[in-house]
Amino acid sequence: MTQAGIYIHIPFCRSRCSYCDFATGAFDEKRAARYVAALVREIDEFPRHQSFIENLSPVDTIYFGGGTPSLLGANQIAEVLNALKRKFEVDAKSEITLEINPGTVDINKAKAFVDTGITRASFGAQTFNDAHLKQLGRAHDACEITRTFDVLREAGFANINFDLIAGLPAQTLEDWQSNLRQALALKPEHLSLYLLEVHPATPLAAQLQQHRFTLPDEDTTAAMYRSLVDEMTRAGYEHYEISNFCLPEFQSRHNSKYWTGAPVYGFGCAAHSFDGKYHRWANTREVLRYIEVMENGESALDEVTNLSDENLRDERIFLGLRLMRGITWRDYQSCFTNDLRDTHADDLARLTEAGLIEISDERLKLTSVGALLSNEVFASLVY
Ligand code: SF4
Repeated sequence: MTQAGIYIHIPFCRSRCSYCDFATGAFDEKRAARYVAALVREIDEFPRHQSFIENLSPVDTIYFGGGTPSLLGANQIAEVLNALKRKFEVDAKSEITLEINPGTVDINKAKAFVDTGITRASFGAQTFNDAHLKQLGRAHDACEITRTFDVLREAGFANINFDLIAGLPAQTLEDWQSNLRQALALKPEHLSLYLLEVHPATPLAAQLQQHRFTLPDEDTTAAMYRSLVDEMTRAGYEHYEISNFCLPEFQSRHNSKYWTGAPVYGFGCAAHSFDGKYHRWANTREVLRYIEVMENGESALDEVTNLSDENLRDERIFLGLRLMRGITWRDYQSCFTNDLRDTHADDLARLTEAGLIEISDERLKLTSVGALLSNEVFASLVY
């Protein structure tokens, strides 16, 4: 049976960043305690409201995301882990990730997280440029990034992901490269790139509308991406997914669940789930509503989507192609009756000719140029 991942959403932050549209709010101890109790109840009662689930898959990855999950106490994280272990068959060698923001842990708290069984930290650094950190409304400065990273190492974290954002307001290629050098100097096992997205109704969107600054143009962001791939590869990292790099053996096992179509069970407000077959479902986004429905013994479900074969096929293509190893024809044919080489022969020929994909007898994958222009490839191959 395919092993599943579990995602736990923790919707609390020290303050709200100017670009953020995630389901998160200000940390408050009393509300956090009610939220953890609600999470435990949702896990205990799962899958009471998902009647389409026949059997729960065994689990080998757990991911605490947010928000800023490191604002919770280690005892609260342990409570949730214990509930998961009561409900699921959790592999003893599971990858258990906690998102940690700079300045939110000291050495004692970091050690306590390690003691609860957290095996991986995902570190939300974003940029080393203090002016950018301030503009983004981040609750830390560049010194705090290095300080907290050192604390994580001292506490025993041997697997750390480092998040960096590119395409920041008025960011130059030189500034980006300086960020990258500083991140690499810390020798994280994994690095994830995010391109800044401007969401409507965020303070950042309003500032852009008022022409207070401009974003780098497409050529500059493309140059940032190319220099990232070059630098990371030179430093010995594997470029294994469009936006993700790792030292050998340090791929994110949890994120790979999404790219390979494995089941992922999500708990908490705004958590999304997939049964690995025909159903996706999502919980209500509102923290307080989530707490109240759980306290009343009701369902937190906001929507359930039944996927058609076409939906699944499209997902297999655009998620599978995110991995630089691509998708094998064998895997594809084991899931679907039609053959992409028949249904999209012209598209495949055109994309190959344009240097965006590579096709062999075994698999279909993006080239490095295709990784940069992946949306063009996906738009051609999904219905
Ligand atoms: S730390 Fe992350 S989740 Fe929290 S407000 Fe900032 S961007 Fe949003």
